[in-house]
Amino acid sequence: MIIKVSCAECSHEYRLSENKAGRKFRCKECGEAVSVPGQAEEDWDDFGSLADEDDLEDDSDQPYRPPRSSSRKKRRKSSQSRNTNHENVSRSIRAICVLYVVIGGMFTIASLALFSREPILSLVLLPLGSGGLVSGIAVLNRRSWGIPFCQIVSAFYLFSFPIGTILGGYFLLNIHKVRDEFE
Ligand SMILES: [Zn+2]
Repeated sequence: MIIKVSCAECSHEYRLSENKAGRKFRCKECGEAVSVPGQAEEDWDDFGSLADEDDLEDDSDQPYRPPRSSSRKKRRKSSQSRNTNHENVSRSIRAICVLYVVIGGMFTIASLALFSREPILSLVLLPLGSGGLVSGIAVLNRRSWGIPFCQIVSAFYLFSFPIGTILGGYFLLNIHKVRDEFE
């Protein structure tokens, strides 16, 4: 027979064999103590202890531990969704860096071309363009200074609504999630 217990703290559900009745274990998800309802095994009659021995054989390698299948399945599922989310974020960050390189490169060329006619505009565009170009390349090539540099550039890009705001905002809000991949 299987006893169902759920953790009072995080409500993670465990399925335990009957011989764990009356005992306690630590919740694998949150560490809270969970007590298994029911009487301890010494009260059982002969028929009960036969069943108990069978149970013990089944999962004797994991006393006090919840059955593997349910908790592992759940954990695999949650780490899977975490992985896909992580992949999506790092893909987006990569795409933003590519856009920084492309748009920044265009602005750099434009500002250089404008320099003789519009020197002031050119001097505003040049650091913004070349900043995006250089920091995008640096992040994509995992330079140690790439992320801090790109964060500064993104903060400036926030002011160029709407594209700069979207790209810069996304970068600033999400880079910490995938920092390990670009360092
Ligand atoms: Zn718990």
